[in-house]
Amino acid sequence: MRSARALLALLLGLLCASEAAIPAAATGAPARIEARFDASAFTLGASGINTWITRSAAIVAAYYGRFPTPVLRLKIVAAPGEGVRTGHAYPGNGPGIEITLGRGTTAEALEHDWVLVHELIHLALPELAERHNWLAEGLATYVEGMARVAAGNMTAEELWQEYAESMPKGEPTAGDSGLDRTPTWARTYWGGALFSLNADVEIRAATGNRLGLKDALRAILAASGGMRVEWPIERVLEVGDAATGTTVLKARYALERERPVTTDLAALWSRLGMRVEAGSVTLDPLAPGAPLRLALTAADGAPPPPVELITAGAP
Ligand SMILES: [Zn+2]
Repeated sequence: MRSARALLALLLGLLCASEAAIPAAATGAPARIEARFDASAFTLGASGINTWITRSAAIVAAYYGRFPTPVLRLKIVAAPGEGVRTGHAYPGNGPGIEITLGRGTTAEALEHDWVLVHELIHLALPELAERHNWLAEGLATYVEGMARVAAGNMTAEELWQEYAESMPKGEPTAGDSGLDRTPTWARTYWGGALFSLNADVEIRAATGNRLGLKDALRAILAASGGMRVEWPIERVLEVGDAATGTTVLKARYALERERPVTTDLAALWSRLGMRVEAGSVTLDPLAPGAPLRLALTAADGAPPPPVELITAGAP
């Protein structure tokens, strides 16, 4: 995860166990989230936490067309203060997520939380060798924003503003090598996100704006089952490319794995119909690149199948 953003406190807590339905894909058995936390430890109570889990799961399920794993064990641990403090996704057959949540966190503060969305996205990609961590973190960083805009949890203006500010962090700096050889925070998270954005744009350009990175990621999830297995990166990229009928992922990886590659971000923003002046972003709806930009964050028509949420108190 990235470093947590601070949030604020308000509501009164409840202690109970409950079930709720999450709108989630099209085929297969219903997925299940088994959430474990001590509701009395949080001022927002069980209902506030359930709403947060349900909303985050729905955002991710909508992006992938299904919830990324049949069963998820989600543990929420209380910490002093407010806001989502840490998050971590664990691989394996029956993957888990552990989140550390401030005791005083409010429901309002969780409405636009990105941390749980980010961790849920990790479930959709097979485990990779350590040197490819940039792909796992980069995709989680990139898809988080795309999925939240598609779900109406964030505006496109907010997303592109954040990208205009943060994508430059992903550019190689002096002494950096390729993505497989530069395990710094900036290159891992934002270098990986920049790889993802470039790939998404290239897939859309190569397919006449019919397909995007989302189609590749859905195919990778369908073929692998996500984080429950470990795959070589070459297999991940091959399955993704086959789904879009392109060689974008393999070619970009070949380009960037060993060498530092700089993206002309000014040209990329212009290609997407965006003006970035003095750090401020303006989206031009009439620019030639606007249809491609809008396709990146567009929602699918079909809602994903439901996901069951089961909550229980801490052991
Ligand atoms: Zn992460």
